[in-house]
Amino acid sequence: MTTTDSTVDAVIIGGGFYGAAIAIYLAKQRSLKRIVLVERESALLTRASYNNQARVHNGYHYPRSFTTAYRSRVNLPRFVRDWPEAVKQDFTKLYAIARRNSKVTAKQFVRFCKEIGAKIETADQSLRQLFEPHLIEDVFVVEEYAFDSSKLANWAETELTECGVETRLETRVTAISKGCDGLKVVMQKKDGGEDVIVSRHVFNCTYSGLNQFVGDFPGTHTNLKHEITEMALMQAPLALKGLGITVMDGPFFSMMPFPARGLHTLSHVRYTPHLHWDDQRGIDPYQKLNGYERATRVDRMVRDVGRYLPAVQDAKYVDSLFEIKTVLVKNEGDDGRPILFEEHPELPGCYSVLGGKIDNIYDVLEKLDDEAF
Ligand SMILES: Cc1cc2nc3c(=O)[nH]c(=O)nc-3n(C[C@H](O)[C@H](O)[C@H](O)COP(=O)(O)OP(=O)(O)OC[C@H]3O[C@@H](n4cnc5c(N)ncnc54)[C@H](O)[C@@H]3O)c2cc1C
Repeated sequence: MTTTDSTVDAVIIGGGFYGAAIAIYLAKQRSLKRIVLVERESALLTRASYNNQARVHNGYHYPRSFTTAYRSRVNLPRFVRDWPEAVKQDFTKLYAIARRNSKVTAKQFVRFCKEIGAKIETADQSLRQLFEPHLIEDVFVVEEYAFDSSKLANWAETELTECGVETRLETRVTAISKGCDGLKVVMQKKDGGEDVIVSRHVFNCTYSGLNQFVGDFPGTHTNLKHEITEMALMQAPLALKGLGITVMDGPFFSMMPFPARGLHTLSHVRYTPHLHWDDQRGIDPYQKLNGYERATRVDRMVRDVGRYLPAVQDAKYVDSLFEIKTVLVKNEGDDGRPILFEEHPELPGCYSVLGGKIDNIYDVLEKLDDEAF
């Protein structure tokens, strides 16, 4: 049975970090009163906002995309200021440059860091000796942090409640259409029943699900690509415990603290992406992941990483985080992570938003500042 139960000031689809932060912004900064946040899972921030590498970017990762590097430099201090509880800073962050197959040399990397104003120091011998010198050209200590996604989830829950945002969990939006009094958002509840909410403002913050609506929703202009990704959760051996390590810039790896579990994620450019496809309406990435076998590739990751960083062989595998990673097709080559922010002219008042990385929230909020509500 379908019930049209309300007209509200804004509907946010997707209760990840972006949907939650936008709902809170609309309530606090734009004084919208009746806001509904709809999330298909049974809790907030359980998808990409939890299943990620937890890196608060500071530019180092993007030597091939100056804009993304520069925006990261601008956004990191703001993120640390706004979510101090969720940011882990008490570890040493190393970037190492591989001798072969790297798209940057150590010299180029140093020059790039100077260009973006990011701190970089040559690592001392006790850190350098962790790496195999035949394969690693140089090792640097940099300033980069990790975020605790469970603390971000706690923040979202508390703030949404305080702002009076109505959160509907286990509810999936299926269609967005034009109506006489605003946009009609059709949603399916866990019990199979349908609700319709009418609103003049709809924010589609569904990350991998951005184009999976029927009705009048036209789809995003920007083309998307999805990957099924695996990050292995590891108990780091003593030698690597207080460290975060990234080897640049090619088919290499990262071992980053994952504060939400007190473990490290191990990811590898070659083995983390299991499967990829171009975004297409009707191929629901969440369903695709549900049907995926999820056979871990941790052995292959450890084998290759161990050539560069022998101590990883003493790490203990605990679990894997499988998730869909959604990126803009236009950034496949340079690895850049700009935001997607589109208002759909066919559905005035309906916006699609994809952040690309956590700290891009400021780029999205700046766009929203320019909109009249
Ligand atoms: C493997 C991986 C590693 C990453 N590493 C980093 C990193 O180190 N640093 C960084 O800054 N960023 C990283 N990212 C990117 C970062 O995770 C995302 O940019 C960010 O989490 C996106 O937030 P979101 O709210 O848009 O997405 P999500 O958290 O996925 O939220 C979208 C929500 O929408 C819900 N939803 C979808 N469809 C519907 C529907 N029809 N109805 C209702 N609800 C729906 C989903 O259930 C989900 O909860 C990584 C991502 C991945 C996948």
